[in-house]
Amino acid sequence: MSDSARVVIFDTTLRDGEQAPGFTMDVPAKVEMARALDALGVDVLEAGFPIASPADAEAVSQVAREVRRPVIAALARCRPQDIEEAARALAPADRRRIHTFIATSDLHLSRKLRITREACLEAAAAAVRLARRYTDDVEFSAEDATRSDLDFLCRVIDAVAREGCRTINLPDTVGYSTPDEMRSFFEAVRARVADADRLIFSAHCHDDLGLAVANSLAAIQAGVRQVECTVNGIGERAGNASVEEVVMALRVRHDRLPYTTGIDTTALYPTSQLLSRLTNEPVQANKAIVGRNAFAHEAGIHQDGVLKDPSTYEIMRPTDVGQPAGQLVLGRHSGRHAVQQRCDVLGLQVSPAELEQVYQAVISLGAHRKHVADGDLRRIVERIRSRTPVAT
Ligand code: MN
Repeated sequence: MSDSARVVIFDTTLRDGEQAPGFTMDVPAKVEMARALDALGVDVLEAGFPIASPADAEAVSQVAREVRRPVIAALARCRPQDIEEAARALAPADRRRIHTFIATSDLHLSRKLRITREACLEAAAAAVRLARRYTDDVEFSAEDATRSDLDFLCRVIDAVAREGCRTINLPDTVGYSTPDEMRSFFEAVRARVADADRLIFSAHCHDDLGLAVANSLAAIQAGVRQVECTVNGIGERAGNASVEEVVMALRVRHDRLPYTTGIDTTALYPTSQLLSRLTNEPVQANKAIVGRNAFAHEAGIHQDGVLKDPSTYEIMRPTDVGQPAGQLVLGRHSGRHAVQQRCDVLGLQVSPAELEQVYQAVISLGAHRKHVADGDLRRIVERIRSRTPVAT
C-alpha cells in the first residue's frame, strides 16, 4: 500500500451540479446517478439541499435508502429549520453528514444577509451545535471564504470546531482565487486555527477563471484533505472542479502530487456519459479526460507516433479512465500509417499500391467532411478494387 496521503472525494454533482441551468434531474435520475457515483468510489455524496424543495428532500431520502457505502450529505443553511429538514431527509442513511453553511465575507454579510459578523459567528456555532444532535459527522462551509477577513474567518472556524465540527470547507465561491493565493490562504488558516491537525480542511473551487482544478490541487498541497467536485465539472455558472481532472492529475502526476483517492478511474468515462445522458447535455468534445477528443488523434505525425508507441502522445491510457482505446480518427490530417492500420483493423488487406490510392481518397474525402468513418473506408477500398484489375 502506498503511504501517500489520502484525499477525500466529496461529490456534489447532485447538489451544486444539479442546481446549474440545464442540469436538473428528477428523483429517479438522481438515484441512478448516485448508484454510479457509489461505483465510482466517491467518499461523500452530497445528494441535495432538502429545505430547497420537497423534490430535493425526497431525492436525499431515496439516495440515503438505496446507496449504502458512501457517506450521504445534505446541505443546510445555518438555520434550525434547514438543519432539521436535512436531518429528516438523511434519516435512512447508515452514514450521514449534515453540511451547514453561512457566508463569512463582509460583502455577503452586509449586502446579502444583512447581519453583523457577531450574528454570523453565533449562527454558525448554533447550527453546528444543533446538527451534532443528529450526527457526529458535521461539515461547516464558510461561503465566500476566500474573500473573507482572515481573522474573522479563523474565529468562525475556531467556534464551529469547539462545537464538534470536524470538516471545515473553505469555498472559493466565485472562482476568484489563483493557485498560489489558494495555497497561502490554506497555509495561513491552518497556522492560525487551534488544533488544525485534528480538523479536515476542504476546498470547494469554482471555475469562473478556469482555475478550479488548479486551485484544488494547490489547496491539497497546503494540507487540504477533502476536495469538493462534480462529474464533468458541472455546477453554478462555469461549474465546479471536475472529479475526473482532479483524480487523474493526482494519479498521472503522482511524482509531484503524492496523494491518493478511492476512485476507480476506469469508471470515470462511463459515469461522465451517464450524466450526459440523464441531463441531455453533451460533454464538450475537447474536455480533459472524458471528452470524445481526449484520446483521439487525427494529425498524421501524431497517428504515426501513437501507432509506434502510444506514450509519444498519450500521458495516460484511454482504458485507464474507461474510454475506448485506439481512436485514430481518419480525416484530412491523417497519414498513411493510420490509414494502413485502420484497414488492417477492418480486415481490408490493401497492397502498397492500393494504400496510396486509398490514402489519397481519404484525405480528399476528409476535406469535405468532419471525419472519414469505417464505412467510408470500406467503400473507398471497394471502389478502388473494382476499377483496378488485380494482377495474377
Ligand atoms: Mn458551489
